[in-house]
Amino acid sequence: MKFNILTIFPAVITPYCNASIIGRAQKKKLLEIKVVNIRDYSADKHRKTDDEPFGGGPGMVMLAQPIYDCLAALKLPKKRRVILASPQGRPWTQKLARAMAAEKNITVICGHYEGVDERIMPLVTDEISIGDYVLTGGELPALVLLDSIARMLPGVVGKAESIISESFYDSETFDHPHYTRPADFRGLKVPEVLLNGNHKAINEWRQKQAEEKIKKVRSEL
Ligand code: SAM
Repeated sequence: MKFNILTIFPAVITPYCNASIIGRAQKKKLLEIKVVNIRDYSADKHRKTDDEPFGGGPGMVMLAQPIYDCLAALKLPKKRRVILASPQGRPWTQKLARAMAAEKNITVICGHYEGVDERIMPLVTDEISIGDYVLTGGELPALVLLDSIARMLPGVVGKAESIISESFYDSETFDHPHYTRPADFRGLKVPEVLLNGNHKAINEWRQKQAEEKIKKVRSEL
């Protein structure tokens, strides 16, 4: 999969992409990430990428021109996803992350300020929100999309079974609680059932715990 991120702050994106599981996925060539500085495509001599809004009002609006030229330079294939990170987009879910993992070419555009000139919309295939709140820019959403999609690619996460038992994998369910050594941590004991090797009992206990938690904290599901 090729994953492009268009941003005016590449320095925010790059360290995350080179660390941990995503960094390893790139080294293993399971994923190719390209971080593109929108500013490099500005036609303005001061590399300007925003301007005041028509109609007045506070803040600045990102210019359409650098984004059009940046996408043209990427020479994207016909079959592609071009995602605009936006609080007004479709809510991001694990289900969408799994569906997107089947794509070969994904580009995310990070907005800033008041957002991006609406005339980029003909270039966009998906407008995605990572939650009903407003961030200063699209860099964190782009990394959220990248991370959640990348870990669905075969080989990125060490054990495939750890993915299928996770919260929201194929339905609105939670993962079960996890414990590790020591069995007694400052008087806080690991539930007895996890120590006896009875896998049927362990599975039943885990399922019950997951069901009780989701009922308690996400009753709407
Ligand atoms: N004026 C916009 C509005 O009220 O809908 C908010 C713009 S926001 C300050 C700047 C940029 O951050 C957006 O263009 C988008 O790229 C990104 N962004 C902010 N919140 C987001 C969210 N919840 N999901 C995805 N992207 C978001």
